[in-house]
Amino acid sequence: MGCLFCNILEKKIPASIVYEDEHAVAFRDVRPIAPTHVLVVPRKHIAGIRDLSAADATTIGQVFLAARQVAKQEGLEEHGYRLVVNDGDAAGQTVHHIHVHVLGGRDFTWPPG
Ligand code: AMP
Repeated sequence: MGCLFCNILEKKIPASIVYEDEHAVAFRDVRPIAPTHVLVVPRKHIAGIRDLSAADATTIGQVFLAARQVAKQEGLEEHGYRLVVNDGDAAGQTVHHIHVHVLGGRDFTWPPG
């Protein structure tokens, strides 16, 4: 079966894609925890933050630019929004293809749970 998000990127598994470019793809989370909950993933398979190397700097920068674009098109910029990256078990990472959660449409507390 391989990586779930690679399968989504290759359109082998359906997803509600809201943005895509040369470097990144963004699609709606199947179990949203906020009115807007979009995942932004690089086309390159990188398992997590701990696997990043200097060669990935541009890729990760493009992922954040894509996240910003998603926030803009989802109308989140005026009120604000949260970006989350979970790395490893303690943070609750369940899919080992690096991704940024774009969360918006409600207020968020700090510290997170
Ligand atoms: P994380 O826990 O940070 O690894 O986030 C993984 C996210 O992927 C969770 O919020 C899941 O709800 C989401 N997810 C799992 N399967 C799918 C899928 N097929 N399409 C969209 N989102 C998914």
